[in-house]
Amino acid sequence: MAELVYLDYNATAPVRPEAAEAVAAALAEVGNASSVHRHGRASRRRLEDAREAVAALVDARAGQVVFTGGGTEANNLALVGTGRPRLLVSAGEHDSVLAAAPRAERIPLRRDGRVSLSKLAAMLAEDARPTLVSVMLANNETGVVQPLAEVASLAREFGALVHCDAVQAAGKIPVDMPALGVDLLTLSAHKLGGPQGAGALVVGEGVSLQPLLRGGRQEHGLRAGTEALPAIAGFGAAARAAAETLPAAAALAALRDRLEREVTALAPEAVIFGAEAERLPNTTCFALPAIPAETQVMALDLGGVAVSSGSACSSGKVRPSHVLEAMGASPAEAAGAIRVSLGWRSEPTDVDRFLEVWGALYRRHAERPPVESPAA
Ligand code: PLP
Repeated sequence: MAELVYLDYNATAPVRPEAAEAVAAALAEVGNASSVHRHGRASRRRLEDAREAVAALVDARAGQVVFTGGGTEANNLALVGTGRPRLLVSAGEHDSVLAAAPRAERIPLRRDGRVSLSKLAAMLAEDARPTLVSVMLANNETGVVQPLAEVASLAREFGALVHCDAVQAAGKIPVDMPALGVDLLTLSAHKLGGPQGAGALVVGEGVSLQPLLRGGRQEHGLRAGTEALPAIAGFGAAARAAAETLPAAAALAALRDRLEREVTALAPEAVIFGAEAERLPNTTCFALPAIPAETQVMALDLGGVAVSSGSACSSGKVRPSHVLEAMGASPAEAAGAIRVSLGWRSEPTDVDRFLEVWGALYRRHAERPPVESPAA
């Protein structure tokens, strides 16, 4: 069988060798970072080294980083922990934001996938309660990059705090927390080549936060429980490697663009979501309204190519993506959408293989005679 091709980096990235080594090194040593003896102090050094690397990735200070069990937990800590009575979240947020704030008001998306700044301004103006605005930096399905600096300066005019889920952006495009002007920023290790189960909430100066987990003073009292040192050490190593390889991440746009050019040359009816907006260099999400996404994903899997569908599968029922719906996609478009996401190990031959398998599927469908409708 031909070599397997992994094009699902937005779901999770392969662990970078530097991260795997850091995990193994942390596992090989005994020590609790809260202990005062030499083993504890060595663990503390390892923990603080990772904290510095993660902070540097987003131009923050190490003291601002609160390690969590992943991006989902960091998003929950931000939305619940700030205790703001009013929450405004973009309609394209990840479920870990939407479900953490079930009563939040949704900021609509424009057709290009970006939040409507005029709608946000109107929402901020109509209610004076203390507010938290949560807008992701880049969308996990479409890769669309949000105008975060504009969102933050608008929110600031109205005295609102701003949280930004930067889980998908970090390691793919530069993320400068002070330049974005946000108060809280979420990161996740496994999206940038670290292990699953580690994340961080980066907390701006003067932001007051209540912990979700109590029972220990770890992480400045904001996340009780012994830190998952091996996963966090891997996170730190991955953050360092991701920062060093940002130019290579930017260069993935050429591969992604070639993939899109060849897809649309073969299938002019294909719809590429968010193509008019700035997008992550590694991500494309496109629909073929005539072929259900699950059919495409399964055919690609049989051909050894791993991608995701743009629909979310919950309790066995496939429902259309809320992100594509919020962008105004038709039900047929949303049902036919697949996401292809590249990353640090992607090669031009991966795109060749995708095009070979996907092209064969498309031709099979295109050549199939249309189904006759039964005579009335
Ligand atoms: N936020 C975004 C935008 C994501 O894509 C994901 C993961 O899919 C998360 C948050 C959750 O991160 P984690 O898997 O670390 O809980």
